[in-house]
Amino acid sequence: MPELPDLEVLKENIWRHFGGQTVSDVYARQERGRLVSKLKNQKLAGITRRGKFLIFAFGQNEADLKAELVLHLMLNGRLSVEAAGRARPGTVLLALEFDRAEELRLTDQTFWAKYWLGANGHLDKLGLEPLSDDFTEDWFAKRVQKSRGRIKPLLMKQEFIAGLGNAYTDEALFAARIDPAREAKKLGADEIAELHQAIKKVIPWGIAQVKKSVGAAIKEDEKRVFMKVYRRAGQPCPRCGNIIKETKLQGRDTFYCGKCQQ
Ligand SMILES: [Zn+2]
Repeated sequence: MPELPDLEVLKENIWRHFGGQTVSDVYARQERGRLVSKLKNQKLAGITRRGKFLIFAFGQNEADLKAELVLHLMLNGRLSVEAAGRARPGTVLLALEFDRAEELRLTDQTFWAKYWLGANGHLDKLGLEPLSDDFTEDWFAKRVQKSRGRIKPLLMKQEFIAGLGNAYTDEALFAARIDPAREAKKLGADEIAELHQAIKKVIPWGIAQVKKSVGAAIKEDEKRVFMKVYRRAGQPCPRCGNIIKETKLQGRDTFYCGKCQQ
C-alpha cells in the first residue's frame, strides 16, 4: 500500500503534469454525488495530501473552488496517465480526461480503491501529520505513554499519526533500535525521543528515495529496494550483520533485527 512518501511524490508529479488543466471528460465506474457533472469543465486548482488520502481541488482558481475529489488507493489502487480516447479496461474505476489530451486513470483489479466528492468524516478522524510542526516530541511522548498495546500497531493507527504504514513503521523502528513488539507505554523517555526523531528522519528520506526512483512519472513504486529492514528477511542487518527476521504483528508482516532492536 502506498504510504506518505509515495503519495507525497505522486501528488507533486500529478500536479506538475495536470495542474491548471481543465477536465474535458470524466468516467466514473460508480457515479457518486453527481461527480461527473461537477468535475467536468473545471480546472485542477490544487492537490493536497492528508494521511494516505489525496485531495484534488477543482474550480476556476483556488479562491473559487467548485468541488473536491478525495482518493484513497487502498492496497492495490494505481494511478496512471493514458492518451485520451484509448480503450479502458474493466478495472478502471475513475478516469479524468484533461484538455482532451491525456487522462489520469485510477485502476484497481480488486476494486478496493475509494473515491468520493467533498470532505468526509474519514479525514476528520486522522491524526497528526508527522512532518507538521504540531508533531512535537512532547505530544508524541504523552500519547505513547498513555497508549495500550505494542508500539508498531500504535504507529500505524491513522487516528494517531496519519500516513505511516507497514513499511515506514518498520524502518522508523529500525532507525530507533526498538523492537516492534515492545509494549508502547513501557518505552523509556530516551527511546521515545529516539523514535520521534527517527520518524522525522525516515519520512523525508523516503520521499527523497521515492523521487529518485520514479522521477517525474505518475506511478507508484513499491519495490522499496532502498529500505533497510522491510522485506529483507534472511539478509544481514546493515547495522550489525545479524540476520533480519520476519514475524507477524496483528496480522501484518513485520521485519526487524533481533540483535540491535531491543
Ligand atoms: Zn542489527
